[in-house]
Amino acid sequence: MNNPKVNVGTNRFGKCLIANSDIAKGEVVAVFDGPIYEAEKCTDLPVDIRDHAIQFEEHKWRDSNSMARYINHSCEPNCGIKGLFTLVTIKDVKKGDELLWDYAMTEDGDWRMECLCNTASCRKIIGAFSLIPESLRPQYKEYASDWLVEKYKLNQTI
Ligand SMILES: [Zn+2]
Repeated sequence: MNNPKVNVGTNRFGKCLIANSDIAKGEVVAVFDGPIYEAEKCTDLPVDIRDHAIQFEEHKWRDSNSMARYINHSCEPNCGIKGLFTLVTIKDVKKGDELLWDYAMTEDGDWRMECLCNTASCRKIIGAFSLIPESLRPQYKEYASDWLVEKYKLNQTI
């Protein structure tokens, strides 16, 4: 399922998702509905899978048959995850804006990437929820994957 208000485009890093109309907060963008992979650790997966699938258990990842696999990371995202697999907007998005989420909303393994998002809150090295400072974790509870909400007991923090 792809939201018709979103196109796959390209930016300096490769493929990306661009809004072709204004999108309200809370709309579904796309779903990770593809094949499931099991591995001891993320970096055991083939590069194309590792770079596009999302983690939904300690040793399981899921790819997407939709445009979801082309969304890029930002440390100040406008999208997040509902449940385990559904990509939603977490703020209003303007026509022409890139749709971006935070990889730490699903990942918590050994995969790491240097972040070049250039936002004020950039964490520089990204790839796992464990890298997010404890003081910032509670603000992820609404938009992080359910498996991380449970693992880090985000619903129990105030
Ligand atoms: Zn960043």
